[in-house]
Order: sequence, then structure tokens, then C-alpha cells
Amino acid sequence: MSAYPKSPLMGQMMEKPMLISSIIEHADRYFGTSEIVSRRVEGDIHRYNYRQCHQRSKQLANALTQLGVKLGDRVATIAWNGYRHLEAYYAVSGSGAVLHTINPRLHPEQIVYMINHAEDQYLFFDISFLPIVEGIAAHCPGVKGFVMMCGRSHMPAESKLSNLLCYEELLAAQSSDYDWPLFDENSASSLCYTSGTTGHPKGALYSHRSTVLHSYASALPDGLNVSARDTVLPVVPMFHVNAWGLPYSAPLTGGKLVFPGPFLDGKSLYELFEQERVTFSAGVPTVWLGLLNHVSQHGLRFSSFKRTVIGGSACPPAMMHTLRHSYGVEVVHAWGMTEMSPLGTSCTLLAKHMELPETEKEAVLTKQGHVLYGVEMKIVDDAGKELAWDGKTYGNLLVRGPWIISAYYKGEGGDVLHNGWFATGDVATIDADGFMQITDRSKDVIKSGGEWIGSIDLENVAMGHPAVMQAACIGVFHPKWDERPLLLVVKKQGAEVTKEELLQFFEGKVAKWWIPDDIAFIDALPLGATGKILKNKLREQFKEHQLPTV
Ligand code: ADP
Repeated sequence: MSAYPKSPLMGQMMEKPMLISSIIEHADRYFGTSEIVSRRVEGDIHRYNYRQCHQRSKQLANALTQLGVKLGDRVATIAWNGYRHLEAYYAVSGSGAVLHTINPRLHPEQIVYMINHAEDQYLFFDISFLPIVEGIAAHCPGVKGFVMMCGRSHMPAESKLSNLLCYEELLAAQSSDYDWPLFDENSASSLCYTSGTTGHPKGALYSHRSTVLHSYASALPDGLNVSARDTVLPVVPMFHVNAWGLPYSAPLTGGKLVFPGPFLDGKSLYELFEQERVTFSAGVPTVWLGLLNHVSQHGLRFSSFKRTVIGGSACPPAMMHTLRHSYGVEVVHAWGMTEMSPLGTSCTLLAKHMELPETEKEAVLTKQGHVLYGVEMKIVDDAGKELAWDGKTYGNLLVRGPWIISAYYKGEGGDVLHNGWFATGDVATIDADGFMQITDRSKDVIKSGGEWIGSIDLENVAMGHPAVMQAACIGVFHPKWDERPLLLVVKKQGAEVTKEELLQFFEGKVAKWWIPDDIAFIDALPLGATGKILKNKLREQFKEHQLPTV
């Protein structure tokens, strides 16, 4: 596999493959009584521990063997964050098959495409997704069986699915005697498709080695900083880039895990945070909006919540400020993508930042941060020339490292590497300390008179206004400048602000020529399957928008 030369003197260390099964074995042996708590789709709370999770994962591995699932076969899941999904994570990958997690929020046609493209043999799904599965089954002839993740009493009396199996019955028929097989650590372990806002989704095929390395790196103190003393609640779904690796890094370190199931509204999350004394969480900004609205409306406080990772799209500085100052929750801004397993950078302070005044600290923390050891990055211009790390010059962000794809699954999209680097599609600056800041996705950059305007900066300013709940900035046609910024704003409930007041709010906060030409107030922003604002939809919706002529 390796393209690199061998030294005449090779090291003499044991060759033990880095396999995902070793994580759950470790958790069982050393953190066996550490809890896993799940709010189930059935509505109740389920509790057990890493030891029991390991036992049941081995039962499921036996069941998979009996179903004929072999090394390298793909097994899909359409499921929320919960203990059965975690068992599938370990049983499928641990037995040598490949776990293909599917985002249920995608269009059914895309789901069908992915199942057929991946050639999934079995599909495991939560009760709530029965209608989706019944709707797509006829279009997925390669799937041998559909496993509903529940007990017999929750199985439907009748179903359109002829080959419907019951998860708990499958497990009950198996012993927990199972030796995790050893195989090459470069074997495929799991498969995630990008959301594919344009064209078909493309698959990122992770390996055992890349997953274990990513788990080590992400658990580091200046990464996600997960430890045996944490109670970890991943809000980020297990169908979205493996919940940013938390289903691996929490058992690896021994942290208690709390799964919210489908209940991601502010009230349900808050209750779970408090009941289970959650210390650490992770999710996209839109989720924290809901939680923060709930706690502020009801005058609530967090009694155990200390730290959260926010990523997936830019964390608005105003949200970070509220979490830090009003609720005492430390925010780690992180950046990555499906193609990067996903973590690339996290933003934590250096020793020299510790004495800075609060506003300057927050200015650093707003950035997407420094790489985790293992990832390398650089910014280049359109000709591929490397650009300066001065915190001002922006360019296309390239990355490389052992948990970044070298190609898409089945070679879709052709050669994706440029001299060994992967082009992220993001535009960023990097400062002298190596702190990276995303200014935009290259396809969202607003091109005004040959210059670029970063939409994220404008959105961050708007979100700093007390009446603004959400903001998105897009480029719309301008006869003289090609494109000019149009700001779309969702106001907070009951709050008022006029277009003129909001435009004035930008004065002195960004360069004058960056200030949006116009603002439109709308009821809601269109969100994609991973909770991100769909700017392509907005561009389509506002393509005829007439900017004021002054
Ligand atoms: P998709 O590409 O299908 O939307 P990903 O979750 O892989 O799904 O998205 C990765 C992209 O999300 C990145 O390339 C970047 O544009 C954006 N992103 C992720 N984290 C951040 C962040 N902290 N700040 C700004 N953008 C982010």
C-alpha cells in the first residue's frame, strides 16, 4: 500500500493494526461501568454501560455473520443518536464490514442513489424512519434485509417490506462470544456521503486507521478535550460525519455518553443536559440557537454544562459571547468537512493569549483555529501559488493528512488531489500563529467589482444586532459591480429593527464598500440536511431582486 521507500533499518515495534473494535474493547475493560444514556425514539430513557454495549455489539456482530455479511460489505443505517446505533457502529466496522450512515433528511431519491451506489446489503433503521424505508425499498433491489431497531412490541403488525427483521430478536438469538477479527488497518470502516447540494452525493470512505488516528487527535486537550470525567452529549447526528467522531473518542477516553435521539428542540435538550449532568456537547450553530432561545425565554441556567464545540458552519461571535458570558460555557470553534473525517481545526488559545483583554480573546476564538496534529493546511491563489500567513491575505484552503480522503468512493469526481493536497472549497486567511479563519465557501463569495466580499463577516456583524436571530448574505446581480451583497434577515420573535437601522449598524464594523446594498426581512432561512443555510436556494429565490439604485 505504501508508496514510500523502506529504510534498510526498520523499527522493531509490534505490528498491531489500529482497529475500531479495539476502542470498544478498551472501553469495556477500563470504563466498563461508565454509562451510555439514550433518549429513545420510543420516548423513554434507556441506560446501560460500555460493558453492556460491548456485549451487545458482539451479539450483533454474530448476527451479521449469520446474515452473511462479510469483510468489506456495506451495511447502512438511517438512525438517530442512540445506543443501538452505537452498537451498529462497533458491530459493523468491528466485524470488518463497512458502516454506511445515511442522513434521513436528504431527499428520498438521494437516499436511493446512495444505497445503490454503496451497494448496501442490509439497512438498519429507527422506528421513525419506517415510512421512508417503505417508500424507497422497491428502488433498492440489492438490499437483502431491513432491520428495524426496536423490540418485537414496536414492530408494525404489517408492512410493505417483505424482508423486515427485528433488531432485538436478531440480538436475542446470538451469544456475546465473539472474537473481533484482525485485518489490515487500512481496510474500509465506514462511508459517509457529502450532502451533494449540486450533483450526486459523493462518498468519503474512511479506514480503521484513519478513524483511530482521528479519534486520538480529536480527544487532545486543544482538540475536543474529552476525558473520563466528561459527560458527552453529541447533538451532531451520528449520520453526519460520524457525529464528529464522538462515538469513538468518548469510549476511547471513557467519558459518559448521552444520546438525545430525535428530540433536538431546546426544551428536550435542556432537560437532558440537566438530568444527566452533561459537561460537554457538540453541534452546528442552528441547534444552539434553539437551546439558547429556550433557556433565555425561561430564565434558566446550566448547572453542569462547561464546554461545547460549534462547527459545521461559522459560529456567530454573538452566540459565542452569549454562551461564554451569560452561561459560562466555553466555546471551541471547530472546522472540518466530511472529506476530513471531519476535524481539521479547532480554536483554543495559546499561552500568550491568556493575558489579553476579553474582546481580543474573543476575536481569536472567533477564528476556526489551528490544525489538529496530523492535518497540514495552506492557502493558495487561483494559480496555486502559496499565500502569506498574515491573517489578511485570503485564498483557497488546501489540506492533507492521514484522515483526509485521497479520492471519492468508486473514483467519483476523478482525481481530487492537487500535488497531494485536497482543495476544501473554502476561502480562508491564516495568521502568523497558524490560526485559520474561513471567510467563505468559494461558491458563496460575493464578487464585487473584481474584489471579494466575505459573506461570513457580514452575517457575523448582523447577528450581533439584538433584533437579529439569523442572517445570510448572498451576492445578487449588479449592473456596475457584477454582484453586490444582499442581506437576508430573520428577526427575533417580537423584536423590531428597520432596514436603515440595521445598515447603520454596519458602519465602522466593516469596510464601507462591504456594507450590504439591501436587506430583506424573511420568516425563515432554508436549511439543508445538515442544518446549514442553503445559499444556492436563496440565490435562486432572490435572483430577480432589484437592488436600490443610489
Ligand atoms: P457539506 O459539504 O455536504 O455541507 P460538510 O459537513 O462536510 O458537509 O461541510 C463542510 C463545510 O462546512 C466546510 O467546507 C465549510 O465550508 C463549512 N464549515 C464547517 N465548519 C465550519 C466553521 N466552523 N466555520 C465556517 N464554515 C464551516
